Amino acid sequence: MTERVLPVLDDPETAGFWAAAAEHRLVVRACAACGKEHHLPRAFCADCGTVSDHWVDVPPRGRLVSWTTVQHQVHPGYPTPYTVLLVELEDRPGMRMVGQLPGQPVTPLTAGQPVEAWFEHVDDTVLPQWRPTEGEWSS
Ligand SMILES: [Zn+2]
Repeated sequence: MTERVLPVLDDPETAGFWAAAAEHRLVVRACAACGKEHHLPRAFCADCGTVSDHWVDVPPRGRLVSWTTVQHQVHPGYPTPYTVLLVELEDRPGMRMVGQLPGQPVTPLTAGQPVEAWFEHVDDTVLPQWRPTEGEWSS
């Protein structure tokens, strides 16, 4: 059993996200009425108020927005160093996700560089994470 902090998998607002991740798919919630996509997921559409449980697959690719490498360990489940990445999804301006990658960059990161999703298995949970598509990494 991990010491990691894991998400609740059966929350009605986010269950579809985690179920898709278990199949190594990346999804965002989309309104069944107006089609607007939302992330973070929520039970109702922020644009038209419709309650729906509709999800759409999105490409597991994006661009790096920001990052930080954590050097000081504050939780036993998160050995250092690790790098937290803020990513904007490909073809979805303003839609962002956060990922955690063990280790740190050897090749300096740059804003806007391409990243791809990968799927980390932790106990019975699968977590979408992000990594640069190029450059050296030290774990
Ligand atoms: Zn809507």
